[in-house]
Amino acid sequence: MGGAEPESAEVDRLPGWVTLLLAPNPGPMTLDGTNTWIVRAPGSDRATVIDPGPLDESHLRRIAGHDGIERILITHGHHDHVEGAARLSELLDGVPVRAASPAHCVGGEPLRPGESLDGILVLRTPGHTSDSVSFVVEREDGSAVFTGDTMLGRGTTVVAPPDGDLGAYLRSLELLSAYPQMLMLPGHGPARSDTAERARFYLGHRRQRLAQVAAAMAAGAETPAAVVDLVYPDLDPALRFAAEWSAAAQIDYLQQENNQEKKP
Ligand SMILES: [Zn+2]
Repeated sequence: MGGAEPESAEVDRLPGWVTLLLAPNPGPMTLDGTNTWIVRAPGSDRATVIDPGPLDESHLRRIAGHDGIERILITHGHHDHVEGAARLSELLDGVPVRAASPAHCVGGEPLRPGESLDGILVLRTPGHTSDSVSFVVEREDGSAVFTGDTMLGRGTTVVAPPDGDLGAYLRSLELLSAYPQMLMLPGHGPARSDTAERARFYLGHRRQRLAQVAAAMAAGAETPAAVVDLVYPDLDPALRFAAEWSAAAQIDYLQQENNQEKKP
């Protein structure tokens, strides 16, 4: 980990316009479970769901019990965020599901970067997946960025090829580092007060890991498994597959950088 994580930045008091419903799917990749967010439009009863989470009937019914839901938005196409979307739409009389990827839309158009939906701005932040977006909400009584899995409330996130792309991910983190004084409302883990600092913390962590992977490759490690053995000698076996995915992304990134340097 690139330096200590400031736990003091965790917040449990949210602005009145946002509600968190935690899905019952905890695990090594999902932390406490998927965070489903309900965002109320300013001065109205209209509401938007961000990430319905898994296909869990009681969770989806709990979401659908909230008034005024007019749309369902998806941060990215991983099943722990999107799996329940079609069923939730059904429970809500067919409200549209909108995601960056047409494959995850139900009765709605793909999200366009820069588009605003009831004051929820779509920001393209690829890297964790190629279809990852964040949502920015700026209000007088507190502003927030919904980061999906691009940044988590605790720990770091997986960037796994072929869909994940470390170069794109580093650029997305740089973009998010330009949002100071904003709440970060992630796809997993606690809400935090430090969006921009967290983006810089993630950037520092990635650069430190890249340096370690470059050193492992220089020492002869050629495969993700060999890199993981050198870089994470005491790894929890449950996290090994995630570490190998990350190592594959780092090897890809370093090889691409290398090839670019060699070009005239
Ligand atoms: Zn994900």
